[in-house]
Amino acid sequence: MGFACQILTLYPEMFPGPLGASIAGRALAEGKWSCDTIQIRDFATDKHRSVDDTPAGGGAGMVLKPDVLAAAVDHAIARQPGAPVLAMTPRGRPLTQDRVRSLAAGPGVTVLCGRFEGFDERIFEARPIEPVSIGDYILSGGETAAIVLLDACIRLLPGVMGAASSGDDESFETGLLEYPHYTRPVEWEGRTIPEVLRSGDHAKIAAWRKAQAENDTRLRRPDLWERHGGARVGSPSGAQREKKDR
Ligand code: SAM
Repeated sequence: MGFACQILTLYPEMFPGPLGASIAGRALAEGKWSCDTIQIRDFATDKHRSVDDTPAGGGAGMVLKPDVLAAAVDHAIARQPGAPVLAMTPRGRPLTQDRVRSLAAGPGVTVLCGRFEGFDERIFEARPIEPVSIGDYILSGGETAAIVLLDACIRLLPGVMGAASSGDDESFETGLLEYPHYTRPVEWEGRTIPEVLRSGDHAKIAAWRKAQAENDTRLRRPDLWERHGGARVGSPSGAQREKKDR
């Protein structure tokens, strides 16, 4: 059985969406993963099928009701007891490639998509739900965040990525950004592919790529560089940084 994805949403028509095309779409057609949506509104109990209510304490917007969410989540857990339940929320732990890799190694995921002002907080106390953020910005709903999460997992499933992209060197796999890429034409608008990449010397190419990856990470993502142990790496850029920090 493939990687089973259940998505709890008010907008089931948004799935598989872009995941129905390209690599993920092919994998879906081949049964390497499955995509089941669960309409949260089906678990509303009043005659208006309400899923939200005004925020306690006042303020703008509406909040997703815990009783409706719990009924939907319980239904999803009963259908697929082995899958972790993730809720997309900017208040969650930022998604990382490590977490994606561990999710992709499991049986699947159940993903809860928020709308309006988000979820009644008590749902996180009452049910085993992991809050996950895809970054420090606000989307209008959890569906696009869920698509990001699922895409990241699906491409890691066995047999989904072609041999051309094994993923081993990819950004974040080693704790660094990946090195920059070039392709033909050799010269374009007066800019030439770096000589070393045309040398055929694989050791030199590997060393150049490692230095580029370290330098770009240090300049563009000081947070990653710090976590990677930046100055301890021993590259020329690391050495410079050590000196500067003293
Ligand atoms: N009031 C919330 C806050 O300030 O934290 C934002 C609610 S947002 C307008 C509506 C829904 O979009 C959220 O419940 C969540 O499901 C989703 N969402 C928005 N930004 C997100 C992010 N960065 N990561 C994950 N989900 C996000």
